[in-house]
Amino acid sequence: MKMKTLITGGTVVGPLGATPQDVLVDGETIAALYAPGAAAGVTADTVIDATGKYVVPGGVDVHTHMKLPFGGTFASDDFASGTKAAAWGGTTTIIDFAVQRTGEVVQDGLAAWHALADGNCAIDYGFHMIMGGVDDDALKAMDYLVAHEGVTSFKLFMAYPGVFYSDDGQILRAMQKATDNGALIMMHAENGIAIDVLAAQAVARGQTDPIYHGLTRPSALEGEATHRATVLAQVAGNTPLYFVHMSASEALAQVSAARSAGRNVFAETCPQYLYLTLEDQLGAPGFEGAKWVASPPLRPRDEPNRDRTHRDDLWRGLRTDDLAVVSTDHCPFCFKDQKELGLGDFTKIPNGMGTVEHRMDLVYQGVATGKLSLERWVETCSTTPARMFGLYPKKGVIQPGSDADIVLYDPRATTTISAATHHMNIDYSAWEGFEIAGKVETVLSRGSVVVADGAFHGRSGHGQFLRRGLSQYLR
Ligand SMILES: [Zn+2]
Repeated sequence: MKMKTLITGGTVVGPLGATPQDVLVDGETIAALYAPGAAAGVTADTVIDATGKYVVPGGVDVHTHMKLPFGGTFASDDFASGTKAAAWGGTTTIIDFAVQRTGEVVQDGLAAWHALADGNCAIDYGFHMIMGGVDDDALKAMDYLVAHEGVTSFKLFMAYPGVFYSDDGQILRAMQKATDNGALIMMHAENGIAIDVLAAQAVARGQTDPIYHGLTRPSALEGEATHRATVLAQVAGNTPLYFVHMSASEALAQVSAARSAGRNVFAETCPQYLYLTLEDQLGAPGFEGAKWVASPPLRPRDEPNRDRTHRDDLWRGLRTDDLAVVSTDHCPFCFKDQKELGLGDFTKIPNGMGTVEHRMDLVYQGVATGKLSLERWVETCSTTPARMFGLYPKKGVIQPGSDADIVLYDPRATTTISAATHHMNIDYSAWEGFEIAGKVETVLSRGSVVVADGAFHGRSGHGQFLRRGLSQYLR
């Protein structure tokens, strides 16, 4: 029997505005929206009082790495723990990266990812495909995944030579294929060949602390790779191109220029690049900075200059739409035994940190401090990621017919982030002590309450695989 739930008294927020409305959920989908008072005669099995709360479409985090193999270990969240933590934070959809390692058949990599996720997810999920080796078979596989597997985005790396790296010729060929079949190319834009030289030189000089991870990956090399990728995409026929985890002003300037020239170029950033810095976190005393080793690295506090930092530019990019999405690049490794693999050599520290639980809260701080509008918060964290990756209007919006993925957000409550209270499987928090204005109060995933009253009510296996269409930003 289908359950009906009526959410009353709240303010429904979407990219176009915030409106007092009641929301009727019937089974797994949204059935109707009512002006205040208009739902008086509606009967429901459950009524949720949302007075004083924002009612927002569940968050869509398009960049996670559950169980990613990296540097001889695996990301510490699996699909069960990671999706549960996501739900706690108001994220009801993730798109994770299936991995084709060099020498591996693309379809085998995808099958392995299905095996990891199937039956384990608390929320709905989709996959992108990491292409670790672009060859004739892999290019054919791109067509197959788009046509038959609901996987419509492919990630390439200009970084990590010998691991995930693709050279410019491989990138061009994959882009040409994407121009043909409508897929979106996702790019990790850092010049990995140059970075490996700088890193080896630093280690040879005895500069082995975590901060050298950042100092050997200068922002100029993210800007250079970003430019190169936009040119390759142009040559390949205006290929749809999406830059992941943008961290630097130089890179953002390249995206702005390409967009102004009318190209299909998009970018995301992540909360860590909006708030954290090379000096304050990565440069923490001793080995502590390993907690914040990720690529691209946290950027210097006062660059490009004191009056306009990388962080300032990224917030501006979010306002102007040069940055369309905020994702997390959730790729957690425990400090003990995992980050510690890099004791005495920063190049051996597993890259990544855990944020999947905190994205909605951290971006909402932009609203609380006047950097971002309420509507833009929802747009960058839910609506645009759904549209960018072919999930709209099933996801990313509160309207009749859409999945009832709904978050009740209390702007008056406050929380403090801590490893003692988070739900991710990590023994530290990259955000320890961060005070959050606002709080995720209630979360529904396809009509089921998964978080309410400070407790988790969901279950592993509720989450379904999402076959995605093509990016809806491209016609
Ligand atoms: Zn990533």
